[in-house]
Parts: sequence; structure tokens; C-alpha cells
Amino acid sequence: MQPFSVRSWPKAIAHVDADAFFVECERVTNPSLRGKCVVVGKERGIVTALSYEAKYKGVKRGMRIFEAKKICPEVIVIESDYEKYSMFSVRMFDILRSFSPAVEEYSIDEAFVDLTGLRRVHAASYVEIGRRIQNEIGRRLGLSVSVGIAPTKVVAKIASKWKKPGGLFAIKAREIHRYLGRVKIEDVWGIGPNTASLLKKIGINTALDFALRDEFYLRRFLSKPYIQVWHELRGESVLDLNLSKREYKSIHKAASFPPTSDRDFIFSELVGNLESACSKARRYGLAAGRVLVFLKEQQFVTRSFEIKLTSKTNLPIMLIPHIKSAFDKMYKRGVLYRQTGVILADLGTKRMYDLFGGLDKTKKAIRVYEALDSINGKFGRGTLHLAPSSIYFNRNQHRKTADIVKLASID
Ligand SMILES: [Mg+2]
Repeated sequence: MQPFSVRSWPKAIAHVDADAFFVECERVTNPSLRGKCVVVGKERGIVTALSYEAKYKGVKRGMRIFEAKKICPEVIVIESDYEKYSMFSVRMFDILRSFSPAVEEYSIDEAFVDLTGLRRVHAASYVEIGRRIQNEIGRRLGLSVSVGIAPTKVVAKIASKWKKPGGLFAIKAREIHRYLGRVKIEDVWGIGPNTASLLKKIGINTALDFALRDEFYLRRFLSKPYIQVWHELRGESVLDLNLSKREYKSIHKAASFPPTSDRDFIFSELVGNLESACSKARRYGLAAGRVLVFLKEQQFVTRSFEIKLTSKTNLPIMLIPHIKSAFDKMYKRGVLYRQTGVILADLGTKRMYDLFGGLDKTKKAIRVYEALDSINGKFGRGTLHLAPSSIYFNRNQHRKTADIVKLASID
């Protein structure tokens, strides 16, 4: 059979797909789940994700939890924690961006990475770059990913599934025709079930059958998106990567309380929200580029203020001055408030430490927070906190708040 292309790599697109992503995120934070049948989705009563151990026993995604328990009585069922998964997702995409600036965040656990022309930059073959991506994600996040490398997005999707889980598979443009015969038409990305049954009626059962048909013949009954898939299957890249960042990745912390206009109390709540949010960000190795703070009045009016930072951070001490000035702008004497909140947005792993490498103040703050996180990890959330949030942590914790760190001494 004639190859579709004479060249090997007109383009090189990697499709990176995390294996059993939700379950693996849970396992990183709770290693006792390793090697066991685990399903996520307790809150809806439906299996939204499952471990390979559960899959091999016959459990499927979308199944009801009670059915999964029948098939696999020892199954461990847990609630989904989308905030946790999106934190891992942000870090995974950041790692991918360290390999190429062109990354499409296709879903929470899948990305396309344009590696075209980067062999020289990395002094490695495309396959070797794929292996480095896998190693880096494994080393830094403890997650396993499958990587498919091909000249187009549609073929890269096929390649990443080829040896899942933990697979690394490359399909050169010149060799695509050798693989497409084993891919059912309904498994091709972009071909829905209706289109698949239509194509089967005209004798197209595999991706190869489709790719070998005449374009003008297909155009008679297929619309543009399907013709694009046809081109992509033949190794001609026509689908660009969508490089815009997704916005759902943020950390929210809010506190409700009986209506009050007590300024110190409300500010304390806000700082407490900030500390909880930052502590979570540090736990996942993330830092925020944007912070939103809000106050809710009793009358359900919300005042909010957005702070754009010149460099990402996850240290409350660096944010307090901004929070203070935002609070002064929002707070109105005599008004009753019932909720405060902080949202950390534009999360990423930007190397803020390097940026501030020379500044002793930041280095000190980082060390203080490392110590603080380890103490709070041992003795409970909020054991150590900033002075302004005392009221918040006393209120939110039935334990005695042992100490208050005087971080002011850092200045
Ligand atoms: Mg996946």
C-alpha cells in the first residue's frame, strides 16, 4: 500500500493522556489505595473514574456503584474531589509547557503538545522527548501518563491509546497506513456514533477504509469537520492547537458568619480565608497570579476586588498588604456583612523563588512557611497562623490556638 506521506515528521504533535487520572491523584495523596480496586464517584452513585485493577475485574465507567460492588465486592468507593484533580492538572500542564510553549489543555487530564522543530532544542528524538515528559510527570507528580506522537492531533490520539497505560507510541506520517486498519471507525476522535453508522453503511469500518476513500466522494455527504478528520488521518495537519488557558483552575475559600459590621472580625475572616487558600496552594506546589477577594453584605450584595500580581505567590505575608488595601476599599462602616471569601486564580508553578532569589525577605518567608506547613500538618490546620486571622481560626477550630506567628519580624 502507498504511504500517505513521503516525510516522517511534517509536524510532531504529542497527545498526553493521564492514566486513571482521578484515581491516581487520590493514590498520590493516599498511598494505601495503591494496587486496589478503587472507584471515584460516591457522591453521585455512579462510577466516574476507576483504577485499572477495577477495570480488569469488569467495572466500567458510568456504571452504578452498587453494580460495581456486585462485580468487585472489595472495591473502595471514594468521593470525587475536583479541586484536587484540577491542582494536579495545572501542574501537569505546567510541566508540559516546560517542553513546548504550544500546549492545548484539551481536558482536565489530556493535552496536545506541539513538539515540531524541538528536537534540536532538547537534543533528543521526538520519542525521547515523549519519554522525558513521562518521566518528569512521574517524578514530580507521581502520575502515570500515556503519550502518543504523530504528525496530527487525530493520529496522536490513536497513538496514545495504543499501549495504555504508561504507553509511549509514535506513528510517523510515512507509516500511518500501517496502523489505521486496526482502528475501528467509531474509535476515531471526531467521529460520532451517528456518523460511524452512516460510514459503515457505505463500507467504511476502519480508520484506514475512511482515509483511503476519495475526498470528493466523501464531501457529498460529510461536512467540513469530518473532512478535516480525513485529512488528519492521512497525516496532513489541519486542526490547530487551541492554546488558550482554561479558567476553572482556582482555589476558593469562603466563610459565612452571623451578620456583623465588626471591622476587625471581618478582616480576620478574610485573612483566614487567604491563609487556608494559600496553604492549599502550597500543598499542591502551586502559586497564584491573581487574587480575588469579596465581602457579601447581609442584603446579598457582593463587593469584590481583584488583585493582579506581578509574580506568582502562595505566601500570605506577600499578599496581606494587597488584601488590606482591597478590604479598606470594600468595607463600609455600619453595613452588615455575612460572608468573606478569597479566590486564588491564574494558578501555576511559576518559578517565583528564582525570580526573587536575591531577596532575603522572600527566602525567609518561604522558610517560615515551610516550617509552618509542617507544624500545621502535624498538629492541625491553623495551629500556626498570622495574627490578624486569630478570630477566624479560633472560631473555626474547637481546639485552642496555640501560637501566633509574628511574621511581621520578617520585614
Ligand atoms: Mg485519561
